[in-house]
Amino acid sequence: MQQVINVQPPEIMPRKFKVYQHRQLDKIEALQRVPDDMRFEMKVVANVLPFRVNEYVFNELIDWENVPNDPIFQLTFPQKDMLDPSAYQRMADLMSAKHSTNDVFDLATQLREEMNPHPAGQMQMNVPHVDGIPLPGMQHKYRETVLFFPSQGQYCHSYCTFCFRWAQFVGKAMRFNSNDAELLHRYLASHKEISDLLVTGGDPMVMRTRKLAQYLEKLTEPEFEHVQTIRIGTKSLTFWPYRYLTDPDADQLLALLERLVNAGKHVSIMAHFNHHHEMRTDVCQEAIRRLRKTGVQIRCQAPLLRHINDDADAWATMWNQQVKLGMVPYYMFVERDTGAKRYFEVPLERTWEIFRDAYKQVSGIARTVRGPSMSAGPGKVEVQGVTEIAGEKVFALRFIQGRNPDWVQRPFFAKYNPDATWLHHLEPAFGEKKFFFEDEYAQMSQMD
Ligand SMILES: *Cc1c(COP(=O)(O)O)cnc(C)c1O
Repeated sequence: MQQVINVQPPEIMPRKFKVYQHRQLDKIEALQRVPDDMRFEMKVVANVLPFRVNEYVFNELIDWENVPNDPIFQLTFPQKDMLDPSAYQRMADLMSAKHSTNDVFDLATQLREEMNPHPAGQMQMNVPHVDGIPLPGMQHKYRETVLFFPSQGQYCHSYCTFCFRWAQFVGKAMRFNSNDAELLHRYLASHKEISDLLVTGGDPMVMRTRKLAQYLEKLTEPEFEHVQTIRIGTKSLTFWPYRYLTDPDADQLLALLERLVNAGKHVSIMAHFNHHHEMRTDVCQEAIRRLRKTGVQIRCQAPLLRHINDDADAWATMWNQQVKLGMVPYYMFVERDTGAKRYFEVPLERTWEIFRDAYKQVSGIARTVRGPSMSAGPGKVEVQGVTEIAGEKVFALRFIQGRNPDWVQRPFFAKYNPDATWLHHLEPAFGEKKFFFEDEYAQMSQMD
C-alpha cells in the first residue's frame, strides 16, 4: 500500500549536533578569523556569563563577513562590554596572572552576584504548593497561566548572551522535585482556574519526546479539561530546527503535538526570534512547515536589544517574515534588569519609538504583537508611549498582565525620564506619591 504520510524532503540532510562551551572556544574553526585579543576578551567574559553554541548556529546563521556586528554573533558570542569595565579588568588580570580553576570560580561567583542574578523576585515569589509541598519547578503568578520548568529541560541548544535566566546556567542548578510530572498533574487537577500551561526552561525542546510525553499526554484526560492551552516556550527553531526534521524522535514529537491538538487542546509553540536572519535557512522554514501541519500555532516573542535588533526595519521585516511563514507575532519585550543588561539596554522611550516605527510599517495581520512590555514584579507593563498631558511630559503605561487581574488595562502615567530603562526608574506623574498598584503589591510581596 502506498504511504501518504509526510516523507522527509530529500534536501534536508541529518546533521550531527555538536556543541561548544567556554573551554572549547579555541576549537571553533570559524572563530579563528577574529583577532587574538578579541578571542581573549571572549574567554574572559565566558568565565562569568554562560556560553554555549552549536555548530549549526555558527556555520549557518552567522555571516562571518559581518562579525562582530552580525546580530547572531552578538546573540551567541560573549563581548567584552557585557561585563562592567572593573569586573572585566579583574577577571582579565586574574587570567593573565598565575591562577587556579578555583580562583576563577570564586571571582566569577562574586562578579555574578553583582549582576542581579534573580530579577523580579522570580525565585522567591510565585512558587506554588500542592498538599504543603513547594513546587520549585513551577511559577504561578497570573491566575490563568502556570509556568512549568521540567527538570530535564533546564538548558538550551545554544545560549543567548542576554538571557534573563542566565544565572541558572552557571551557578547552582535549580532545585527540583524528582516526581515533578506527578506534582504538575496534581497541581493542575486541583486548580480549575488554570486555563494555560506554559512549559518553559531552559528549553523544553531539548528533552526527548518520550519525556515530554510524560508531562503532556495526561492532560488529554477529562480531569484536565480546564487546561485549554498548552504553550511550549522554545528557541529550537533558531538553534536546532533538526529537532523537528531529522532527530531520531522528531516524528514522534510531531505525532505527540498532533495528538494533543486532536484531543482538543490549543497547542502554541512560543518561538523566540530576535532577528529575521534566524528564519532564513531552509531547515528552519521546513521545521515551521512541519510543525504547522500538526495543527499547532506558532507565536513569536523576543526582547529588544542594543547590538542585536534595536532597529525598526529589522523588526518590521521579522514580523512580516513570521506572518509569511504562518506564525503569529505576539510580544516585544524590554530587556530585563539582569546579567549583561548594561550592554543590551535601550531607553524605554527609544524602545517605544522602535516599536512604533516597526508597527506602523506592517498590516493589521502582524499587529497582533504587543509591547514593548516589561515583565516586572507587579506584572507585564506595556509602554504605550510618550505624550504630554496638561503641560507635563509623561509615559503612558498599562498592565497587560497583573498580579491582581483587576490592574489589567488601566492606563497609568509616569514622569517622563529619558534615561529610564526599567519600571523601577519611573516615578508617578502629576505629583502623585505612588502608582495605583504599589500598596497592594507591597502587601502581596510580604505574604509570599
Ligand atoms: C508572560 C507571562 C505569562 C503569560 O502571559 P500572557 O499575557 O498570557 O502571555 C505567564 N506567567 C508569567 C510569569 C509571565 O511572565
